[in-house]
Amino acid sequence: MSKNVQVVWFKRDLRLQDHQPLWEAAQRGPVLPLYVIEPDIIHAPDFAPRHWNFIRQCLIELNNGLSALGQPLIIRQGEICTVLKQLRAEIAFEALWAHQETSNWIGFKRDKQVIDWCKHSTIAFHEIPAGGVVRRLTSREGWHAHWDQVMLRSQFPAPQSLTPLPAILSTPIPDALTLGLGTEQLRNSQQGGSNVGQHVLNSFIAQRIRRYPRGMGSPNNLRASARISPYLAWGALSGRQVVQTVRKHAQALDAVGRKAARTFENRLHWREHFMQKIEDEPEIEFENFARSMDGMRADSYNPIYFDAWANGQTGYPMVDACMRSLQATGWLNFRMRAMLVSFASYHLWLHWREPALHLARLFVDYEPGIHYCQHQMQAGTTSINIPRIYDPVKQGVDHDAKGGFVRHWVPELRAVPTSFIHAPWRMPFEMQQKVGIALGKDYPLPIVDAKQALAQARAELTKWRKSDQYQEDKSRVLQKHASRRRAQHANDAHNAEQARQLGFDFKNL
Ligand SMILES: Cc1cc2nc3c(=O)[nH]c(=O)nc-3n(C[C@H](O)[C@H](O)[C@H](O)COP(=O)(O)OP(=O)(O)OC[C@H]3O[C@@H](n4cnc5c(N)ncnc54)[C@H](O)[C@@H]3O)c2cc1C
Repeated sequence: MSKNVQVVWFKRDLRLQDHQPLWEAAQRGPVLPLYVIEPDIIHAPDFAPRHWNFIRQCLIELNNGLSALGQPLIIRQGEICTVLKQLRAEIAFEALWAHQETSNWIGFKRDKQVIDWCKHSTIAFHEIPAGGVVRRLTSREGWHAHWDQVMLRSQFPAPQSLTPLPAILSTPIPDALTLGLGTEQLRNSQQGGSNVGQHVLNSFIAQRIRRYPRGMGSPNNLRASARISPYLAWGALSGRQVVQTVRKHAQALDAVGRKAARTFENRLHWREHFMQKIEDEPEIEFENFARSMDGMRADSYNPIYFDAWANGQTGYPMVDACMRSLQATGWLNFRMRAMLVSFASYHLWLHWREPALHLARLFVDYEPGIHYCQHQMQAGTTSINIPRIYDPVKQGVDHDAKGGFVRHWVPELRAVPTSFIHAPWRMPFEMQQKVGIALGKDYPLPIVDAKQALAQARAELTKWRKSDQYQEDKSRVLQKHASRRRAQHANDAHNAEQARQLGFDFKNL
């Protein structure tokens, strides 16, 4: 009979390195590493087979690593408290270890149930912060200094070995089809697992980082940014591992490389800054930051507009190319994500919730904290960010000047001359005939008249921003969620540039 057994519950932290719960548990007794496939999570409207495919690859690698240490991963399927109860009947474990998870509402509720179950069952539950995000934060003052300190701390090494436990039932790692999720074959999809994640990060720092600030706006170049987001989102890499790796190597870079490394590190900082917001107010997954905007767009949901947007059939080539590329690959750069949301929110005046769920299912790197904050920022419902409306024609001209990206993802437009590729509706009829395309038949005409739609959107937005309640919301949201970095960086041109690229008003964030 094994004594002092410690269960380590893996969630969105699928790695061995820099995993404090695993390290702590291993100091105290034999470790039972557990992963639970939870029906509530995998069948939720924000989950898709592409997420499971990535998770599965991470689990295979994690299981290999744990097996090599002496104790394989135990995989169970079911509601977490039921699984823990069953497990306890099989092996008398003493404690449960996990990271504090900042994810979606389902995860938030589930973690509370586990706390209650542990109390009721007199099991010690050790929940450990996963990075810079602070649970039950009372004030944003000092948060940045705290984040810096957490990033400086030493990483937790993987245990050197684990004590093998008597045979405990574990299900094989199922594929998405077996789980009833269906299948998805992505093009150029990223392979899950910490080893690949580390390789992607290393290649970014060694070969690609110098071009990062200039290249990241272009949707054509899939290698312009770091491409580590899914590894962070599913915890194959910790934020601290990434920050420490870039800091270590930045010293050997030239001035251009060091500047790019600072830009990159700022993004990593923003990541947890946004996650802190959903940690502090999980309701923002469903509710506007500014509750005074609650009626805005509430009754204007147009399913035809939504379907056209979601399927890349709006008649705006850059919007459609971005959506189709995202569907096929599971990734899109920041600027183009922002443009998709801006188009849904302003041109089509769709409430952000359905588009946010659609994009959540498409992003392999879906991270609720970043996702809902960014979505609301782009949709103009936070009250503390200046709404930014992207013109898809201008974005196309600026970032896909020759139209190669559009032609690749919207092959109907392959023969359209470059001067019309981002606004094919401007092509004279004779030219349409010459290149063999019938707009409105082979490819849609613009679903809305941009000028008219934007004039209406601006008028509506201005109306909603005028209420007294909106001003009160602004103070509350600033107080609760805004970064306190403003004063420190007020005159910092570098950060102004960051703000421009991120597409929001840095001063008010
Ligand atoms: C509407 C919308 C939704 C988004 N949803 C997600 C999401 O679900 N998951 C996600 O990881 N990112 C999201 N982003 C942010 C950003 O687009 C992606 O993080 C980035 O494109 C990932 O590619 P990368 O790893 O090459 O990024 P890099 O530019 O190399 O950045 C490195 C890391 O920093 C973080 N990061 C980068 N940009 C931001 C940002 N603007 N805000 C917060 N953190 C950032 C990410 O963890 C990223 O992996 C969203 C952006 C928008 C506009």
